[in-house]
Amino acid sequence: MRFHKASKAGQDDGQGKSAHWKAELIRPVQAEKEPPCRARCPSGTDIRGWLASIAQRERRGLDRDAALDLAWTQLAHHNPLPAVLGRVCPHPCENECNRAAREGAVAIHALERYVGDWGIERGLALPRLQAALKPRRIGVVGAGPAGLSFAYQMARRGHAVTLYEHQPKPGGMLRYGIPDYRLPRTVLDAELARILDLGVEPRFGVRIGRDISLDELRSRHEALFIGIGASAPLHLRIEGEEGQGVWSGIELMERYNESDPPQLGARVVVVGGGNTAVDAARAARRLGAEVTVLYRRTRNEMPAIDEEVDDALGEGIEIHYLAAPIAVLRGPQGPVGLTVQRMAVGQPDASGRARPVPIPGDTYELDMDSLVVAVSQQSDWSGLGALESTAKVNADELGAIGARAFCGGDARRLGTVAKAVGDGRRAAEALSMLLEGATPSPPAHRPPVRPEAMHLNLYPSAPRVETRTTPREHWLAEPHSEIHRRISGDELDAEVRRCLSCGSCFGCEHCFMYCVAQAYEPSASGGPGAYFRYDASLCEGCGKCIEICPCGFLSPAID
Ligand SMILES: Cc1cc2nc3c(=O)[nH]c(=O)nc-3n(C[C@H](O)[C@H](O)[C@H](O)COP(=O)(O)OP(=O)(O)OC[C@H]3O[C@@H](n4cnc5c(N)ncnc54)[C@H](O)[C@@H]3O)c2cc1C
Ligand code: SF4
Ligand code: SF4
Ligand code: SF4
Repeated sequence: MRFHKASKAGQDDGQGKSAHWKAELIRPVQAEKEPPCRARCPSGTDIRGWLASIAQRERRGLDRDAALDLAWTQLAHHNPLPAVLGRVCPHPCENECNRAAREGAVAIHALERYVGDWGIERGLALPRLQAALKPRRIGVVGAGPAGLSFAYQMARRGHAVTLYEHQPKPGGMLRYGIPDYRLPRTVLDAELARILDLGVEPRFGVRIGRDISLDELRSRHEALFIGIGASAPLHLRIEGEEGQGVWSGIELMERYNESDPPQLGARVVVVGGGNTAVDAARAARRLGAEVTVLYRRTRNEMPAIDEEVDDALGEGIEIHYLAAPIAVLRGPQGPVGLTVQRMAVGQPDASGRARPVPIPGDTYELDMDSLVVAVSQQSDWSGLGALESTAKVNADELGAIGARAFCGGDARRLGTVAKAVGDGRRAAEALSMLLEGATPSPPAHRPPVRPEAMHLNLYPSAPRVETRTTPREHWLAEPHSEIHRRISGDELDAEVRRCLSCGSCFGCEHCFMYCVAQAYEPSASGGPGAYFRYDASLCEGCGKCIEICPCGFLSPAID
């Protein structure tokens, strides 16, 4: 018995007693642990939980439809935009998945998309919560994912939420930044409509700080959420940048998405390495241009989603790494070229990434008709000045920026859609507690369960699902068609079963079968984390169950 540790006891008590050996008893503790996927998901969804609802459906007596409905509801509890995030999230959850140590991470992103689409196709309504004792008047500035997530969480608790948005339609960068071949507008509109259906009052085409003052807004509402995003572009500050023929990535994407693209000409250079730069390059390619992207670091440091970079290369876009623009060359009609500085990899900077350093005298020229600058963005706080300093300096982990005011999404820190959704939810949960007279506390960060605390060898092998795209030759020919395809129902069924249920009992029955003392018996309530009851009075302390519990749910308590 490997877990039957032995130790010397009473070996020399000074009274001449002989030494003897005493065996320690190893008893199990049934304790749920944090799975690493959820710890890394910025929106904080219970990934293991909703996967289990589908994977363990027979054990729980659910048919497939009911299991998928339940999984969708669990997902929507934290994230009202699962079909959106199942398409655009860079899925950091998969980077930490314990299955990666075997045949590759569980394809959480593809599964989330399937379940998100399921909710739309079934017409499922977002789950409401018990109404607050005293509904309050809540104002939300910005209908991007942060503001929408906050509005959802407050509206489902029964509060009266007004959503102020400068643009004529909701969605923020989901609509005006991310292009439709990555995020079809039917999907976006369906998920946004569900949030408004909860009774959120839309006030679109209204800019706070211009059409309505901050003081007026404060007088109308008992609490505020600021989710204004970051749509003011940063500039390169190089010679020749000012003038016609130079666009910001944000401006190009907004016009492209509104079917009003600018005339870019035949040769376009895009500067930047993030999602905006890659989207701008692909938009320019769809408008018929030859496109070159300049990025001053290497591919390894490129912040854009890896698959999107591959897709951009597949569309014939060139990427020059370790290259930075230093001057726009202009003719009488506009830009004619760009002088480019070659860079080398230097010492790590504050971000931990290798700092690019210019190679003296090593420059080259590119012909171009338009330049697109997509290096970064910042928030436009005009008219909201009093809040800017608090948001930047004082926002706590929950986003509080003063009495009953919260801030989240890109306005707090540039990030992703999933982070914006998570910020909105955490702020709403904190505000709800404040309104009920309780004190909110920052989220607990439990250490996630790692493969060392599990027995990965006890799981059968199962290959990861391959996701597919439409044929590459269609991509530019049908510029508005979605490129990435949904996995099939059979693939979903196989993929959810690859989840190891890290840190939570999934009812494999090993403990029940191997325990000679019969200390385990099936629990009537059942369900993930609760399939078997353990009776300590029958346990002989051999520790066998811990040895054969694959997921780390059983851990040792040494007597
Ligand atoms: C081109 C592009 C591609 C991207 N691709 C991805 C991707 O693939 N995956 C990913 O995770 N992230 C991506 N991002 C980043 C992502 O879109 C943002 O992190 C996210 O949208 C931030 O959400 P938010 O709600 O904070 O801000 P936003 O989405 O920017 O929404 C803010 C909203 O506030 C409104 N607003 C601003 N000021 C006011 C005011 N004073 N009064 C009223 N309304 C106001 C704006 O009009 C806007 O609708 C991309 C961004 C861009 C630009
Ligand atoms: S939102 Fe992103 S990180 Fe979270 S589960 Fe979905 S794909 Fe993973
Ligand atoms: S195996 Fe399942 S629970 Fe474990 S990290 Fe991966 S998705 Fe999460
Ligand atoms: S051995 Fe299996 S049934 Fe027993 S606690 Fe672990 S996961 Fe659950």
